[in-house]
Amino acid sequence: MKLPTDLKFILEQIDGKGYKAFKKIKGDYQFTRYSLIIDHVQADPFAAPSRIRIIVSQRVAGFPLTLFRNASRQTALEDYIGRQFSKSIHLPPTQTRETFGGHTIAIESGGQEILKRSAVNISIDRLEVRFFVRLPASGRKILGDEAIRIFLEEIPRMAYASLFYESLNQVECLDHVETGDDSDALRNQLLPNGLVAFVAKGSLLPRRSGIDDRPLDVSRNIIFFNSPPEKEIELIRPNKGPIKGMGIPKGITLIVGGGFHGKSTLLRALERGVYNHIPGDGRENIVSVEDAIKIRAEEGRSIIKVNLSPFINRLPFGQPSESFSTENASGSTSQAANIMESLEIGTSLLLMDEDTCATNFMVRDEWMQSLVPKEKEPITPFLDKVRLLFRDHGVSTILISGGSGDYFSVADQVIMMDHYSPKDVTKKSKEIVKQRSHPRKPEGGEIFGVFQPRVPLLESLLGRDVKEKGKIKVMGLKTLRIGNRILDLTHLEQLVETGQTKAIADMIFYFIRHFGNEDLPIKEGIQRMFDELNTKSFDMLTPFQRGDYALPRKMEFSQALNRIRTLKIRNTPYFRA
Ligand code: ADP
Ligand code: MG
Repeated sequence: MKLPTDLKFILEQIDGKGYKAFKKIKGDYQFTRYSLIIDHVQADPFAAPSRIRIIVSQRVAGFPLTLFRNASRQTALEDYIGRQFSKSIHLPPTQTRETFGGHTIAIESGGQEILKRSAVNISIDRLEVRFFVRLPASGRKILGDEAIRIFLEEIPRMAYASLFYESLNQVECLDHVETGDDSDALRNQLLPNGLVAFVAKGSLLPRRSGIDDRPLDVSRNIIFFNSPPEKEIELIRPNKGPIKGMGIPKGITLIVGGGFHGKSTLLRALERGVYNHIPGDGRENIVSVEDAIKIRAEEGRSIIKVNLSPFINRLPFGQPSESFSTENASGSTSQAANIMESLEIGTSLLLMDEDTCATNFMVRDEWMQSLVPKEKEPITPFLDKVRLLFRDHGVSTILISGGSGDYFSVADQVIMMDHYSPKDVTKKSKEIVKQRSHPRKPEGGEIFGVFQPRVPLLESLLGRDVKEKGKIKVMGLKTLRIGNRILDLTHLEQLVETGQTKAIADMIFYFIRHFGNEDLPIKEGIQRMFDELNTKSFDMLTPFQRGDYALPRKMEFSQALNRIRTLKIRNTPYFRA
């Protein structure tokens, strides 16, 4: 192994030379308290930044075992260390750096969610941190002195500030770890208590803006969450003690209330409740079942051989709705497909907001029933299926409906948001239903209907114009490019970090390479891949020890898969009626 003085020597040697000479610094260097590994050196100043790792032996790093004694704690501790490393970056921007477009040193450390990432990995033996450095140049000439300053002053300073337990704020660190641990514990108590979600009293739900997920500034007028007495339940947090809040039971929950009274804000908090949140976020004690899926209309998406028959039948021109395909779905068919695909991957909770639903998919009132006979309407509205979905498949729904009372008759509980505070109005809504003289005719049939597993033809995923290697490009959080086609993930509202998108991109390759010839149904294939990911690590996805992955859920991966326009599905012989 080389020494820091060797690195310094090389950098002095290549100072002022062409950028390619940077390749010479690749390798391992033994610093006093850690090793620095330069895995990949960028080919030119504008290429993706160079990939660097630091490994500290646990004997020196000194993180107490209790801070990572279970998976929840480990993820939270790694998340904390990544954030501290990121905070310790304070190289002032200089003119030369501006030309590189942003940070000299960067680490993927996340936003408001605590996620499993590849940037930090802790074990009983060692701590490993992966990050990126843009190697400095003027034009294409190497700035050796600048590089020496980065590797022999800045990075050592950052490492000492963030990678050794003794130099961290240990109270804050413990709080972070316990917060993540408690959130998982709360989530684990949902099902045993017959719940699908929990919102603790005192939670802070509103966000700064549609593009800023941090909590609304407390200097603004904020109503902290308060649970209605009828729905109040106490759950246990292993670290921070018992906590009270609103438990949302299994079944069908309707959220009503006037405009601007906080309905969508509550639903969005429940959507994000599948993830844990950092201390101070305001949603640390809001949890939903981990497989909850936000459902919305998504006009224009492609649908490939999805069985929409529970919702759609007798299409014009005799299109079979049992195996429905389109390049350009309507609002209602896209919403039906989103539901059926969610059932296929195995959700237990659907979340819907009227703001983003297709009206003709949600309701068909008695006026319309009188005018347009059932035989002339291909769509069976969700209203007629939501109870059957719960009865036959155990899938719950939480739904916002501020404009139509049709769902009163099918809801198990009705929550009214009133000036950002929830009230239980279940009783009242049931009375209103009873008093109705001309109730609407149910049209949903006797059963919900079937959803059959589909087997993807994996070689189809990349399309004909893409070879197997390295041709999926991540353009941003919600956009991938596969070959010359855009894979649009705009409407995956529970996809929260670009690192997740990067993981999804490489998981598509992995999926093809490892399950390409196995004829596995989508759900089984994805489950197997996630099981492997859990026992191995992100490194199974690539040979490059990448530091910029974050773990997506199975749900987001399957949603991405289902939106690949070249996807082909094997004709399934086992269609069960
Ligand atoms: P709705 O869906 O009922 O029309 P929204 O959830 O969109 O209402 O909320 C309307 C506005 O009120 C949003 O700008 C939101 O940020 C803000 N808001 C929501 N909840 C709170 C709260 N608890 N305290 C303060 N402002 C809130
Ligand atoms: Mg709304």
